[in-house]
Amino acid sequence: MNKTIFQKIIDKEIPSEILYEDDLCIVIKDIAPKAPVHLLVIPKKLITKLSDSTDDDLKLLGHLMMIVKKMAQEYGIDDAFNVVINNGENAGQTVFHLHLHILGGKVELPSGLITD
Ligand code: AMP
Repeated sequence: MNKTIFQKIIDKEIPSEILYEDDLCIVIKDIAPKAPVHLLVIPKKLITKLSDSTDDDLKLLGHLMMIVKKMAQEYGIDDAFNVVINNGENAGQTVFHLHLHILGGKVELPSGLITD
């Protein structure tokens, strides 16, 4: 199977600014931000999508959430942010390596409402 763009970033095969890294995950900025702060938390383990995770991933998934919290604090958006996981092509998933979007700052909602 061909490596995804995220696997290449994890393997340092293509350059990317890694904002945070530990044994289990990396955090990068989304290349096409949908909010003033738009980060991606990506596990090093290849899980194609959330619905492919298993009980073995329980700790890892919890860890990813704690990294979301840490990054939101670091970026000063912990008061108001969204976490999005697109699961499957029909849900808008384009990179088939699990990742959590962190969206914060002034986010324009589909209704046109602006929230701080
Ligand atoms: P999804 O549509 O949920 O699969 O999200 C994939 C996200 O990856 C999109 O928001 C893209 O903008 C982002 N993306 C794709 N390539 C890169 C890259 N090289 N560096 C950072 N973000 C990327």
